Amino acid sequence: MNREALDELKQQIPLMGYLQAHDWHPARPLSGGRWMGLCPLHEDHKPSFLVDTNKDLFYCYGCGRGGDVIRFAELYHQVKFPEALALLRQWRGVEHSLLHEAERFYRIQFHRHSEAFAYLYQRGVRSWATIELMRIGYAPGGCLRGWLTQLGHSLPVLCQAGLVTAAGYDALVHRIVFPLEGNLYGRSISTSAPPHRFLPGAKGGLYAWTRVQQYPELILVEGLFDCAVLWEVGFHNVTCSLGTHLNARQFRQLCDAPRTVYLAFDADGNGSGQQATQDLSRRLRERGIPARRVPLPEGHDPNSFFVQGGDARQFQSLLEAAQP
Ligand SMILES: [Zn+2]
Repeated sequence: MNREALDELKQQIPLMGYLQAHDWHPARPLSGGRWMGLCPLHEDHKPSFLVDTNKDLFYCYGCGRGGDVIRFAELYHQVKFPEALALLRQWRGVEHSLLHEAERFYRIQFHRHSEAFAYLYQRGVRSWATIELMRIGYAPGGCLRGWLTQLGHSLPVLCQAGLVTAAGYDALVHRIVFPLEGNLYGRSISTSAPPHRFLPGAKGGLYAWTRVQQYPELILVEGLFDCAVLWEVGFHNVTCSLGTHLNARQFRQLCDAPRTVYLAFDADGNGSGQQATQDLSRRLRERGIPARRVPLPEGHDPNSFFVQGGDARQFQSLLEAAQP
């Protein structure tokens, strides 16, 4: 990418707009179009993050980091320069439409490949309403590239978005596809491939945040299949962090209003899920957010709990038994 293209990208993405879209709010104005607020790059307790809207630059007096919108994207999403550029372009909307087309394609494929519904059924996701609500699709592999090039997207653009590999093959093969905010998640339906796959770039905020953020009590789960089964049996106040480790944005979202958070992570034998639950519960309490740990039976996550016969009433009892 040359100098002009970089400048053009920066012009199209004013730093303040990008910050606000990532849940940053200025706390107080200074002179000359400058603002102070809490730093989104470290755990900040008094505003030390300065934004200069005329120069489109930021600087944090707490963690000492500063720069332009590209530098911010690098630090915020914890990616290198080229990936930060890709994320910004995507945010600008160029690749957003591309992901949309890919999603549309995968949703059409879902109806053409019976193995996709069979897999969902076996994971306890059985209603069309859930499939529609979550916009679930299926990547059979080997035909997305053709579809997207026919729509006028060039191969380098498809590779850059991570939809097609450098060798020219579809990146997602035999995977159930869930659209995320600015990304796609693919769950392998075969046991020979790694189970989880995301496109390059950030996994985004908490799943379906705009849908669930108004609930005063939220259930946080690890995986999309946990979320799907709970939605399906009538718990609508469920969101998902796509793994036990929350990124900075996801953590801030949980803390952005008074609410109680029920943590229903995998109660695995080796204890890593339980450790993550304890750590998160402590961090939330430090921010004044009451957190409760849902006592799932040993070896279970919410998905397996329902797949193996658990019902909504039993899960409700687990919520009532949840301890800080
Ligand atoms: Zn900072």
